[in-house]
Amino acid sequence: MTTASGLSSAETVELFKKYVIPNYTRYPVNLVRGEGSYVWDSEGSRYLDFFPGWGCNLLGHCPQPLVEAVQEQVATLIHVPNTWHMEVQGRWAQLLSERSFGGQAFFCNSGAEANEAAIKLARLHTPKERYKIITFEGGFHGRTLGALTATAQPKYHEGLGPLVAGFSYAPFGDLEAVERLIDRETCAILVEPVQGEGGVRLPPDGFLQGLRSLCDQHGLLLMFDEVQAGFGRTGHWFAYQHFGVTPDVMTLAKALCGGIAGGAMLTTREIAPSLRPGMHASTFGGNPIAARAGIAAIEMIENENLLENAVRLGELFRERLEAMRQQNDVICDVRVLGVMIGVELAVPGAPVVEACLKRKLLVNCTHGNVIRLLPAMNLTSEQLDEGCDVLAQALAEAT
Ligand SMILES: *Cc1c(COP(=O)(O)O)cnc(C)c1O
Repeated sequence: MTTASGLSSAETVELFKKYVIPNYTRYPVNLVRGEGSYVWDSEGSRYLDFFPGWGCNLLGHCPQPLVEAVQEQVATLIHVPNTWHMEVQGRWAQLLSERSFGGQAFFCNSGAEANEAAIKLARLHTPKERYKIITFEGGFHGRTLGALTATAQPKYHEGLGPLVAGFSYAPFGDLEAVERLIDRETCAILVEPVQGEGGVRLPPDGFLQGLRSLCDQHGLLLMFDEVQAGFGRTGHWFAYQHFGVTPDVMTLAKALCGGIAGGAMLTTREIAPSLRPGMHASTFGGNPIAARAGIAAIEMIENENLLENAVRLGELFRERLEAMRQQNDVICDVRVLGVMIGVELAVPGAPVVEACLKRKLLVNCTHGNVIRLLPAMNLTSEQLDEGCDVLAQALAEAT
């Protein structure tokens, strides 16, 4: 297969300048092909990808079993409306239910949509006067107006008001602040059990348990946004399984269909009927292609023991990154849970990302100073070493 075909990177950049709305900051590189943890650009350069698909390509680029499943599905049934049954969606829901808390699924196409469904469900399930939802500073829940309002980061709100009524924000980890925010109109707490965009922040000990008790005490729904941390990334199917706290509602997307667009909201059998017929819908939600890809992703993770591999990779990353920290005082914290990794720096991270890119390693910087790695669960140990060597050089050069 040729890696260089069609337009060059420079020509593609020109095409975007003319025709694509410039709402993203993009690297001036035209990616044309991916396989496992490598991607190639139109000039034939190969990159090692420690951030494949912004967390969506948890199984690497173009995982073979998923490619085959989707190819077969597209040739059989691409789309039918949700006014019909389709076995593949029902099976997908079953597999997710059996791996989480035994509830039921609503399917959509993205993380923001999954959170919108959760917000509506919380308002519908609780008494009429209850509509307020508590979320957390540094959290990220998506860009639609409801999910955006839930996202307690002022920089994303600028110029977009008035936002949706009823959201209030507590510092992540601060149970007393949450308790102060609860009133008779509160219906739910929405939280990422591990904050992703907020800098790969792990919950302090007892925090999620504390939220569970507050919800039980006040009749609120506890809703976990596992769009980034969920679906095997942390070494358990879902991040909440590390902390011994079960939510009432969980939202999923990103890696859920191995790189195909898909999202889901799961909730318990008791709460599910509150999303009554006619109250919510998604045209493409749970379509046969996403469903088939979702099933293939689960099967691949199990057939290839990738949960165990995520744990093993996390340990290897921790060793390498802790060693870097010994050598470079610019690294102030290393946070690892499976293949969800944050390296907090005492300086801005953007120059490190640039230095890695020059050496053909793709990483991300979030929250200004946290180098974030969301590598594939099937990264090899050799690739891990190769990338960590580059990261160490880049850190030495850029800081
Ligand atoms: C990415 C992300 C979202 C938004 O997902 P989209 O598919 O971009 O709408 C929501 N929550 C978390 C935790 C995320 O990381």
